[in-house]
Amino acid sequence: MNAEPVPGKVVFDTTLPPRGHIAHEIARGQVMRIVDLEGRQVGDLVAYNRANLAEKFWISNTVRLNGTVYVTKGHVLYSELSQPMFTIVADTCGRHDLLAGSCNAEIDKVRYGVDAHYGCVENFVAALKPYGIERKDVPMSLNFFMNCPVDASGAWTIATPVSKAGDYVDLRAEMDCVIALSNCPQDLNPCNDGELKPLQLIVYET
Ligand SMILES: [Zn+2]
Repeated sequence: MNAEPVPGKVVFDTTLPPRGHIAHEIARGQVMRIVDLEGRQVGDLVAYNRANLAEKFWISNTVRLNGTVYVTKGHVLYSELSQPMFTIVADTCGRHDLLAGSCNAEIDKVRYGVDAHYGCVENFVAALKPYGIERKDVPMSLNFFMNCPVDASGAWTIATPVSKAGDYVDLRAEMDCVIALSNCPQDLNPCNDGELKPLQLIVYET
């Protein structure tokens, strides 16, 4: 169940329980590994420039500058100011989502008719409170291990993840960042295959 050892010195290692969240500072050059410990569990990620928290991770720049909505090894994650924030240096899964954004109480009320359903946006707000970051400052997330196929007609759906136990992504920081990771609490659609599971976050130096 454990992923293979990291190629470097571990400087941080934690496991997020189901529905868990964390904010953490990653220095330029450090590598962040997100491990899907049991498989088929989504982790939503947002990031900020540590030196200027107004500069956020930005999905549309990431799509445009990579020319794809399916990022994997070799792709770069960009900020709102089109600066490189992370490079994906390893990816054993190969399917992640850039289009869904994060689950939250409001959209789950609209799409599923439930009240106060706790989601990734609520997780981000809780995790980022020590940085003075509010909901309005939370950008669209990159959703690791989330499987949202787009067919030739443009139809978009949420499907069961294809990730296996121990799959991971490694992200090398290209600037000093504050990141927040939400272990997705969504249990009303197939995105976590009907069961909420732990995720591991490791930071290492090469
Ligand atoms: Zn979620």
